[in-house]
Amino acid sequence: MPRVLTIAGSDSGGGAGIQADLKTFCALGAYGASAITALTAQNTLGVQAVQAVDPAFVRAQCDSVLSDIGADAVKCGMLANAGIVRTIARVLDDYASRHVVLDTVMIAKGGHPLLDADAVAALRDELLPRASLITPNLPEAAALLGEAVAADEEAMLRQGERLLALGARAVLMKGGHLALSAESADWLVSAEGALRFAAPRVATRHGHGTGCSLSAALAALRPQRDSWQETVADAKRWLSGALAAADRLDVGRGTGPVHH
Ligand code: PLP
Repeated sequence: MPRVLTIAGSDSGGGAGIQADLKTFCALGAYGASAITALTAQNTLGVQAVQAVDPAFVRAQCDSVLSDIGADAVKCGMLANAGIVRTIARVLDDYASRHVVLDTVMIAKGGHPLLDADAVAALRDELLPRASLITPNLPEAAALLGEAVAADEEAMLRQGERLLALGARAVLMKGGHLALSAESADWLVSAEGALRFAAPRVATRHGHGTGCSLSAALAALRPQRDSWQETVADAKRWLSGALAAADRLDVGRGTGPVHH
């Protein structure tokens, strides 16, 4: 069973962050460990409060996990601030991991910031070059590049190529924010070229933690597959099922989580 470490924030509501990651790892046959970067007081109605963990204590959690259990893949989610971003860059240098999935989390669906604005540059300069795969949505890609949000797939693809040039080994551009009709298209951009992955849009008012769950699925599956291409296809298939089952779960009065 692959060992996967998630370095991310806690969602007390259980739908996103560390909680979503561990449920996803479990669903996809991986052993999950965690290093918590921030506590959020959160439910399906939104984020009520955030408390970042001291970077030294984030480091201590990573050391504890990686010096004993180890990790076949690492997923980075909410990193809260530049101090934690730099700490994680050192951790990734000190413990080489074959697969590092960086979910470039910046703002929660409800609008609450999950990364300080002044930490975006640190994320771009220190973590992008250490990532095997980054998974930006369109607003995150635009923020990393200091450009306007892509308005069509052509612009999305070009931005993916520019993010690749910044040092990530592969980029999964998530096109969910594009106003396409019946499908949602993502592009996987790497040195080997660009591949389009389309999935039918799922009609649900839920979907909290979708991004967290996708990046966790990618980290859980990559050690069990031969390429990112296969991994992305299988992770997206699994996520479509989790999203389609969200209405059955029906947790809370707001935007409920996907069904892991
Ligand atoms: N809370 C935490 C701790 C997260 O890591 C994330 C996403 O990465 C969110 C909340 C946001 O989830 P959503 O935008 O799906 O509401």
